[in-house]
Amino acid sequence: MTARMLDGTAIAAAIRESLRPEVEAFTRRAGRPPGLGIVLVGHNPASEIYVSGKQKAGTEAGLWVDVHRLPPTASVQDVLALVERLNRSDRHDGILVQDPLPDAMGSDAARRVVDAIDPRKDVDGFHPISVGRLVQNRPTLVPCTPSGVIELLDHAKVAISGAHAVVIGRSDIVGKPMALLMLHRHATVTICHSRTRNLGAVAATADILVAAIGRPAFVTQDLVKPGATVVDVGINRLTSRDDVERLFGRASPRLAAFERRGSLVVGDVHPAVAEVAGALTPVPGGVGPMTIAMLLRNTLKAARGEVTSNE
Ligand code: NDP
Repeated sequence: MTARMLDGTAIAAAIRESLRPEVEAFTRRAGRPPGLGIVLVGHNPASEIYVSGKQKAGTEAGLWVDVHRLPPTASVQDVLALVERLNRSDRHDGILVQDPLPDAMGSDAARRVVDAIDPRKDVDGFHPISVGRLVQNRPTLVPCTPSGVIELLDHAKVAISGAHAVVIGRSDIVGKPMALLMLHRHATVTICHSRTRNLGAVAATADILVAAIGRPAFVTQDLVKPGATVVDVGINRLTSRDDVERLFGRASPRLAAFERRGSLVVGDVHPAVAEVAGALTPVPGGVGPMTIAMLLRNTLKAARGEVTSNE
């Protein structure tokens, strides 16, 4: 069997296109475009790439994307003061602080900063109020990566209701909200993590297997039930030629791509899984573009005031 590839790039492009008239209508009505404030602290190369991708996609969709750069020496207080300013702004409908913050800010910095964001502007969906609403299945701003996965599955007509969904990973930003969204869509959900016993056997019972681990090629063929839908959330950068050759083989175009760039982005799912799975999301070009499309949708939702603080 060769898995059907679920083309996140194409689906995300269609979603972004469908948002454009809605963004235009908002802009006409409000006399200004929906505004997204992005805070980027330091010079993390991956963060730079993510932020420029969000800025480009947002601008193309008609949003006003306002990127605030702070130096790596900035303090948590500097970030909190900026968030406070964006909270009060009537031009910024959404606020996003790009993860990770510099280590020097301390281990609780990200939490303090997220807690400071006005929940009505919490387009990442990480604020405790957003999370609480998600748990209760109330209208809220939902984290972009897991909502992008649901959207991808819906577009690909993968039935979620009644399916056994296994989510590997329990982070606050991907694994946990992913499991909740699957549950709200009536899947039977199992969450696996680093302490799970017999993870391979559990994963192999999944109709829908979501890998959000951060380990290249962790999900091998034996973890996948034949015909299952496999969603690869992982984004891992390989910098060793040997690793790339071991995964993809000597003749693969991926090896040639590695030779050109000196690194290669791969997911958490081994390429050979494509021979077993019924459907599979590629990396790149699967969940990543969907995440950005959902961020734009959340910003529009926030601009329209669809999420109020006392709902
Ligand atoms: P975290 O590191 O926060 O979480 C990883 C999870 O994987 C943890 O729950 C951890 O378990 C689990 N895990 C790690 N090793 C193992 C193992 N050997 N066996 C079983 N479980 C394991 O990562 P994130 O959730 O933030 O991200 C996951 C991946 O998704 C990363 O590659 C990240 O880059 C990518 N990502 C992609 C996005 C996209 O847009 N496509 C957006 C966000 C993330 P435990 O809790 O027990 O430690």
